[in-house]
Amino acid sequence: MTGTVYKSTGSWYTVKGSEGTFIECRIKGKFRMKGIKSTNPIAVGDHVDYELDESSDKITGTIHNIHERSNYIVRKSVNLSHQMHIIAANIDRVFLLVTINNPPTTFSFIDRFLVTAEAYGIEAVLVFNKIDTLDENSLDEQLYMQHVYQEIGYKCLRVSSTQMKGIEDLKQLMVGKVSMFSGHSGVGKSTLVNALEPSLHLKTTEISEQSKQGQHTTTFAEMYDLSFDARIIDTPGIKGFGMVNMEPSEISGYFPEFFKLQDQCKFNNCLHKEEPHCAVKKALENDEIAWSRYQTYLKILEGDDEHYRTDIYNDDRIASDETRKS
Ligand code: ZN
Repeated sequence: MTGTVYKSTGSWYTVKGSEGTFIECRIKGKFRMKGIKSTNPIAVGDHVDYELDESSDKITGTIHNIHERSNYIVRKSVNLSHQMHIIAANIDRVFLLVTINNPPTTFSFIDRFLVTAEAYGIEAVLVFNKIDTLDENSLDEQLYMQHVYQEIGYKCLRVSSTQMKGIEDLKQLMVGKVSMFSGHSGVGKSTLVNALEPSLHLKTTEISEQSKQGQHTTTFAEMYDLSFDARIIDTPGIKGFGMVNMEPSEISGYFPEFFKLQDQCKFNNCLHKEEPHCAVKKALENDEIAWSRYQTYLKILEGDDEHYRTDIYNDDRIASDETRKS
């Protein structure tokens, strides 16, 4: 039988079978994925083959095969420095919630997030939230930001969860897919999730403060079915995960607008810095590439990656950030 892992608690995995029932499963044998040394063999989102074990009072299952992943996200294991912990697998879309003022979301933060998503092979969508709160200046800023990313080819949505604006468009992008939501603390994830699915109460809140102290809190990702044929993966307590290790030459490959041009650079190993006849720098001078993007690129190239660890996928818990307001 084939199913999808909805939850993992270390030794038990909750698998939803193709017929829609949930079965608690264990793993049989050792699972080794090519190229990954991970502390957990199976993660939420994995597609697995399992068989039922009806000998006990409660029907349980045994997972004996894992299907190839389309992608997966990891963080470095705290204690075993060379091992990865796989947080989730087979994610179709990651939605980054962006607010202009409250809190401010910077170009640099968005760029780094997008680079991570590109590196993981996950489609990222920018969701400009709280658009009902923008004054004239911040509206200009929001529209400019949106313009920058739309030009590159990223989907952008304008949403107000409190006024239910843009919610249907967001749902459209989630139908039939597995999604994750991310963004700074306070961008309104819980209000948004409530707007999408009022009955869904993610068990989230308490962990965030603890996880700021250190990463010893063990928490587990979980997948939820939504009523409109969509699924989301919530990742409680995960405060950032390590950036994929990238060679300098790889980085521009994760900036789609640079990637398109790099064949036109004189040197095929061009880093788009001081090299002559660089198509990226030429496009930059012609305002065809945003300066903010190039600045972030240079910073990543220099190895300034502190934000990856602290901010990307900063998971302040979907439920906690908005409850105070209501
Ligand atoms: Zn170049």
